[in-house]
Amino acid sequence: MASERRTFAIISHPDAGKTTLTEKLLLTGGAIHLAGEVKARGQARRARSDWMKIEQQRGISVTSSVMTFERDGITFNLLDTPGHEDFSEDTYRTLTAVDSAIMVIDAAKGIEPQTRKLFEVCRLRSVPIITFVNKVDREGRDPFELIDEVADMLALDVSPMSWPIGMGGQFEGILDYATGHVARPEGGSREFLGKIDEDPAIPDDFAEQAELAREAYPDFDIDAYRGGDLTPVFFGSALKNFGVVQMIEAIANYAPPPRPQPTDDGEVQPGRDEVSGFIFKVQANMDPQHRDRIAFMRLVSGTFKRGMKLTPSGLGKPIAVHSPILFFAQDREIADTAEPGDIIGIPNHGTLRVGDSLSEKNDIRFTGLPNFAPEILRRVVLRDPTKTKQLRKALDDLSEEGVIQVFYPEIGAQWIIGVVGQLQLEVLISRLSAEYKVEAVLEAAPFATARWIKGDAAAMAEFESFNRPNLAKDRDGDLVFLAKSPWDVNYQQEKNPKLTFGATKER
Ligand code: GDP
Repeated sequence: MASERRTFAIISHPDAGKTTLTEKLLLTGGAIHLAGEVKARGQARRARSDWMKIEQQRGISVTSSVMTFERDGITFNLLDTPGHEDFSEDTYRTLTAVDSAIMVIDAAKGIEPQTRKLFEVCRLRSVPIITFVNKVDREGRDPFELIDEVADMLALDVSPMSWPIGMGGQFEGILDYATGHVARPEGGSREFLGKIDEDPAIPDDFAEQAELAREAYPDFDIDAYRGGDLTPVFFGSALKNFGVVQMIEAIANYAPPPRPQPTDDGEVQPGRDEVSGFIFKVQANMDPQHRDRIAFMRLVSGTFKRGMKLTPSGLGKPIAVHSPILFFAQDREIADTAEPGDIIGIPNHGTLRVGDSLSEKNDIRFTGLPNFAPEILRRVVLRDPTKTKQLRKALDDLSEEGVIQVFYPEIGAQWIIGVVGQLQLEVLISRLSAEYKVEAVLEAAPFATARWIKGDAAAMAEFESFNRPNLAKDRDGDLVFLAKSPWDVNYQQEKNPKLTFGATKER
């Protein structure tokens, strides 16, 4: 049932402890259900072994994209976001497929740049956040200072749900405000092994501090949290197992069940009978021989069944989803179905694209999966000019996957690619070479950013006639203005009030 799903992501700056917390959540959750473990018969089994082979060859893991575990009747879908310092659109888009997030902060460092960027993406969609202040087993900053930093930098109300009894060498456990109990470190490793002190003696100074914190900050309010205005803050140590169970319980008790999703015609409720979903991520070329790819669909409504026919908005004709990778697959009985909030991996040959809506009746168009205005633009120059066709194919594929955006200028033959983070450039060059045997270099382009132009036909035509050298088409054939500077964008906007220069394009 939809109400028993929690679909969430963990956001953090590298090294804050996302991987460690993920592992502990999965361990505590008990069962780790990955795509590779789907135990279904026939076609499904074949699909499973194919994917496993592909994963081994490529050394990558589809399975870790979605991690599912179950506890006390609730199914948790944890969506992985790439852990690079440099972010990509992939990360942004994954956050469009979750209903809530855990923000992990290193107690010694507080809010770091990547945490902040990812937080802003969550805020755009009012995704509620639970904060986990990690590594309290080490010397960290003053807890009051950390909480105030979250409140000030992110403009959020904060409500501490637990409090550390000392940090680092002085660390004596975590006080849970709800129960008054303290989780204690044990043994040589000073881990949490289940020892709960129900009538804890807390040294005076720490007791005072904990009391003060409780009074100084607002009480937890589930509506404020779900509205994205308040974050409950938990202290813990993923490495030493403190606060892990509280995280699971907080997600179970407070985090919202699958939310309705906006469309161009109102919201689609999870309870709607018709099956619908949207593609938020595509992984291409998992098998170099077959140019296969897997599209990740977030199910929004209805009960999906294997073999079902769905129509992708980008294609217009139905496809039968025969061998979906179901990340939720407890046993044979239910391995063939998925519920709203679940993620389905759909193998395909390029028909499915990021941003596509899928529905049984082809009548639903989800909105809010944007392309972001690139902040870095480069010219792609081929080392071997006879490879133009391969390059075009590669750029189309990779833009479909969301690795890059590609712009085909109206004048001239030099294609421009745009990215939002430097890392995407490196990924592009290495994948061009490894997967498409295309050797290319990137050169500076005389453009600083791109804007999607919209407006009435006459105004568009006039603008086009004057600005052809700065115009390009994106992969969908939509008109894009390549600007030399942010100033240029403002100037054109003022000069052309009938046009809009969008920094994002929603598909
Ligand atoms: P990620 O980059 O956010 O995925 O971070 P990792 O989970 O890989 O952790 C980065 C480093 O911090 C690793 O060396 C972890 O062992 C360490 N680490 C993670 N959690 C804790 C913690 O609670 N306490 C301490 N002392 N170290 C931790």
